[in-house]
Amino acid sequence: MAVLITGGAAGIGRAIADAFLTEGRAVHICDIDRVAVEAYAKSHPRASGTEADAANLAQVDRVFDELLTRYGGLDVLVNNVGIAGPTAAVEDIEPEDWDRTIAIDLNAQFYFTRCAVPLLRAAGGGSIINIASSAAFSGCPLRAPYVACKWAMIGFTKTLAMELGVHGIRVNAICPGSVRGPRIDGVIERDAELRGVSEQEIRAMYERQTSLRTFIDAEDVAQMALFLASDKGGKISGQAIGVDGNTESLSTWIPS
Ligand code: NAD
Repeated sequence: MAVLITGGAAGIGRAIADAFLTEGRAVHICDIDRVAVEAYAKSHPRASGTEADAANLAQVDRVFDELLTRYGGLDVLVNNVGIAGPTAAVEDIEPEDWDRTIAIDLNAQFYFTRCAVPLLRAAGGGSIINIASSAAFSGCPLRAPYVACKWAMIGFTKTLAMELGVHGIRVNAICPGSVRGPRIDGVIERDAELRGVSEQEIRAMYERQTSLRTFIDAEDVAQMALFLASDKGGKISGQAIGVDGNTESLSTWIPS
């Protein structure tokens, strides 16, 4: 039995992969970055991976072919893959940027889940963990396609929990706050440029949005994923759990 993690070659996905490996689990990652997939697969005898675009149905099928050949089954799926999408006022978003964000941040989760459910049922149960965002608890100006997908992930999670509970499959969403790393640095850079303020001001604003005045680390998310997949989380399903220092609000400070 393996743990399958989408977008697992970097950031939060990689931290989750590392955490499951530390627990002695076999981990298969899927990622669009071939070099990073190969490097990760070489990093540990219980790690393997498939280069694939998670938003491409045929390539997703190939991920499952390789997974089944190698491990014969699956008991944990982590739908982690996601892009930040455009930072722009809604009328300035190009339709192709909207479509690509929906494809990776929502369609991919469906593609992986539809292939995973028969395997989880065959395993006698299991766990699906969807990585959403603290942006799924409110709106977030200038990030419409991303936030729309993350809210959709909560509906997807709650519905699947109801459909699949009878098969012993638990489905939960983790909603991370701003995670230290290059991705949030890019979001801050674009946000600062658009609002005409310094990156330091944006970073401080993001921190002030949380009760704990903090960014989080990818490892914080990974520990929650481990807990949810373990027997300790055995009675938890259908939940959207913030790992975010408690986001009180996302700024409504938009350019005039
Ligand atoms: P990241 O950009 O650091 O890593 C994403 C990984 O996904 C990369 O390895 C990339 O190559 C891969 N990837 C991108 N497009 C792909 C595709 N089409 N097919 C397969 N792989 C693809 O991202 P991250 O910050 O670790 O984010 C992971 C998840 O956490 C996302 O769903 C994101 O929305 C969510 N999240 C992130 C933050 C944050 O602050 N970083 C906050 C809240 C939620």
